[in-house]
Amino acid sequence: QEVKPERALAAPQETAAIRITHPDRVIFPETGETKGDLATYYESIAPLMLPFAAHRPISLVRCPQGRARKCFFQKHDSGSFGPHVSHVPIAEKHGGVEDYLYVTDTAGLLACVQMGTIEFHGWCASTADVEHPDRMIFDLDPDEGLDFAEVKRAARQIRQHLADLGLVSFAMLSGGKGVHVVLPLTPGHDWAVHKDFAKRFAEALSIAEPERFTATMSKAKRKGRIFIDWLRNQRGGTAILPYSARARTGAPIAVPVGWDELKDIETANSFSIRDAADLLERSRSKPLRGWGFAAQSLPETI
Ligand code: ATP
Ligand code: MN
Ligand code: MN
Repeated sequence: QEVKPERALAAPQETAAIRITHPDRVIFPETGETKGDLATYYESIAPLMLPFAAHRPISLVRCPQGRARKCFFQKHDSGSFGPHVSHVPIAEKHGGVEDYLYVTDTAGLLACVQMGTIEFHGWCASTADVEHPDRMIFDLDPDEGLDFAEVKRAARQIRQHLADLGLVSFAMLSGGKGVHVVLPLTPGHDWAVHKDFAKRFAEALSIAEPERFTATMSKAKRKGRIFIDWLRNQRGGTAILPYSARARTGAPIAVPVGWDELKDIETANSFSIRDAADLLERSRSKPLRGWGFAAQSLPETI
């Protein structure tokens, strides 16, 4: 990557009508990417990211002083993000109503970056109908030290089991340690059905191969195994959105990949915010065409 000359004055960076202040602030100290670099990344990747990220309640990982300093997970806001970030009122489980954030365009993503956002997490439902989920995610969380090849094998196996049920699924590198298997769904069923399907699917795998899989969050039960994290699929649950950056070493990103492509990938953090041009190019390639889209519904029984 090109090394930027030190700028005497940190001039604000103008992107899609959003003023990015402190563009020279280093957000990823290990590799040197700045807030300006992050804004530039999101501005370029927005056309690929918005089909998955727009019109969906989001939670943000904000690290205003960079990833090495204090970061926080933000679900609600009452207006500090400005006019480009919208609000959707959602009834809370234990009563009351809270405003959740959502964006509709590039300016919305950038307004979040201006507020120190690195990561965008999304609900498995759109703001049009928050009570009827439109995607299911199996988040494969390997125990420390488990080989990535094991994660890939598990993901392919899940894809096959879903295919046996007539369901099309897609693979995404999380940008961290694991792979997410993403199942687009036509809204229709409610959260109870959604969660029940995800839970029973994960449990069936762990019962069939208890030495490889667990469906419970417990760290002890994870020893040498892959936790099939189905808990993303509860009302209010979120998962990292496609093309979101991660607040981890090296500015990695969550990246959709084709199933065949996945065979040759060696880590879940193979791509970073420096790869925007490459990702835009890749998105036009055959394995990526149609990624994340399918009109399908959960079967009645599994
Ligand atoms: P990895 O591949 O490293 O597991 P990941 O994105 O799958 O990457 P996880 O740790 O498995 O990361 O998932 C954490 C999940 O919990 C995310 O989907 C996120 O939406 C959610 N989450 C993260 N931080 C919080 C928080 N403070 N409160 C509530 N939910 C959170
Ligand atoms: Mn995970
Ligand atoms: Mn998880």
